[in-house]
Amino acid sequence: MVDAIIIGAGYAGMSAAALLARAGRKVIVLESSGMVGGRAHSHRDEKGCLWEYGAHSHRLAHKGIANEVFKRLGEEIDFLPEAKDAKLIFRDKLWERPEGPAGFLKTPMLSLRARLTLLALLIKIKKADPAEWYDKTLRDFYKSSFQNPEVEAFLPFLGMTVMCPAPDKVSAGEVIEFLQRALKAGVGVGEPRSGSAQIFSRLEKHIEKNGEIHLHEKAQKIIMENGQAVGVETDRVKYSAPNIIFAARLPLVLDLTDNILLPKGTVDYAKNIESSSGLTIDFITDRPVTNIRGSILGVDIPIWARFQSNADDSFMPQGKYLSTWGIMLPWNFDGDQKTVEKTEKRLKSTISAVFPDFLLKVIEERKTVVPVMNGNVLTPAQSKPHRPDIECSTIKGLYFIGDTVKGDGCSGDISFSSAMIAVDKILGVEIGQR
Ligand SMILES: Cc1cc2nc3c(=O)[nH]c(=O)nc-3n(C[C@H](O)[C@H](O)[C@H](O)COP(=O)(O)OP(=O)(O)OC[C@H]3O[C@@H](n4cnc5c(N)ncnc54)[C@H](O)[C@@H]3O)c2cc1C
Repeated sequence: MVDAIIIGAGYAGMSAAALLARAGRKVIVLESSGMVGGRAHSHRDEKGCLWEYGAHSHRLAHKGIANEVFKRLGEEIDFLPEAKDAKLIFRDKLWERPEGPAGFLKTPMLSLRARLTLLALLIKIKKADPAEWYDKTLRDFYKSSFQNPEVEAFLPFLGMTVMCPAPDKVSAGEVIEFLQRALKAGVGVGEPRSGSAQIFSRLEKHIEKNGEIHLHEKAQKIIMENGQAVGVETDRVKYSAPNIIFAARLPLVLDLTDNILLPKGTVDYAKNIESSSGLTIDFITDRPVTNIRGSILGVDIPIWARFQSNADDSFMPQGKYLSTWGIMLPWNFDGDQKTVEKTEKRLKSTISAVFPDFLLKVIEERKTVVPVMNGNVLTPAQSKPHRPDIECSTIKGLYFIGDTVKGDGCSGDISFSSAMIAVDKILGVEIGQR
C-alpha cells in the first residue's frame, strides 16, 4: 500500500508526485504512454536533436507558478537569461514588443490617439476586480468604456496572453487576473534551459526517491468503497491507496468511474468541455535566420514562435538551428485535413512576410497537429469560478488535477497550481482528520 496513486505523468501528475515524495509520502505514478511529460513531453533522437511537443515556456519565469512548485521542492527552474528582444507580428511586420504600459505609450505600431486609449485600457485592467468580470468577455470589458478601431485590433494580443485570442470568447476576468499578476511581477516568460526535458528530469529525481513511475500502464478503474476512493485497477494489476489523484484531462475520468457517484457539475463540465487545438512546425536550418532570442507573438494572427538555438545550444547538434512556430487552429477544429493545410499556408505566408528568406534555408521540418493544446479555452463558462473543484465533494480521497480544473492562471500553470492545491489538501487532511 502506498500513500497516493497518481494517474498521468504530465506537468500536474509529476508535480503532485514529486511534492508528495518530498513530504515523505510513498507514491506510484501510472502513465499509459511510454514517456513522462504528457502534452509537454520531449525526446532526443539518435542524431542528437531535442524535439518537443510544441515549445513550452513558463509565464512570469522565476516569479511564476511553475517555479513555485520547484521552490517548494527546495530548488528553482534553471531559466535562460531573460531576452529583452521579444517581438510582435502585426500587419505582417515585425515590431519590438512594448514592455509594460510605458512601452505601449511609445510604440510606433499605433497612432498617438490609439496609444493613449490603449494606455487607459491597461490602467482600467490594472484597477479592475477580476471577480466582477469572469462571466463577461474581453470585448464586453473593452466596450464598457472605449471605442477605437485601432485598439480593437490589439485585443486579440491581450487575449493571447491567456491563449484565447478571440475577444468575443475570452473571459475578461481571466485576462485581467493574468495581466495584473504580470504587471506586478514585471517579468516576461521564462524559457527553461533544455526546455521541458529539464522540468521532467528534475521532477523524476524527486519521485524516484520515494516512489515509482510506471510507464505503459493504463488506469482502467478507480476502485471505490463506501463513498471513498481506495485504489486503482490498471491493465496489469490492482493498487490500494488512501489518496487517488486523477491527473489527466477531466473528460477521461468519465471512463474510470461510475459517473453517478461524481458531482453532477463535474460530469456536465467534463462532457461539454471546449479545448483549443493548434498546429506547430519545427524548422531546422543550416544557418541562423535571425539573432532574435526572445519570443514572438502575433497581434492580429494567433501565432507564437521562438528561435531556440539563438538562446540555447542544447537543442541541436552543432551547425543546425531550431525554431518552432505555432498557430492556433479554428475553435471548432475536428481534425479536418483541409483546415490544417489552410492554416499551414497562413502560417508560412506570415513567416515569409516577416523573414523573406527563412523558408529557403530550411533543411528539415516537422509538422505536429495538436488536437488538444489547452484543456480549457478560457471562456466565461470555463473561467476559474466555473471549473470543477480539485477535491471531489462526493468521493473521499479522490482529487482532480491538471489543466481542466480550478487552478490558477492558464494552460500549464493550471496544472502546476492544481497539483500544489491537491498536495496541500492531502497533507492537511493527513495532519488534521485522518
Ligand atoms: C504545442 C503546445 C504548446 C504549449 N505551450 C505551452 C506553454 O508554452 N506554456 C504553458 O504553460 N502551457 C503550454 N501548453 C499547454 C500545456 O502543455 C498543458 O496545459 C499541460 O501540459 C497539461 O499538463 P497536464 O499534466 O494537466 O496534462 P497532460 O499533459 O495531458 O498529462 C496527462 C497524462 O495522463 C496520461 N493518461 C491519460 N489517461 C491515462 C490513464 N487512464 N492511465 C494512465 N495515464 C493516463 C496521458 O498519457 C498524459 O501523459 C502547450 C500545449 C501544447 C500542446
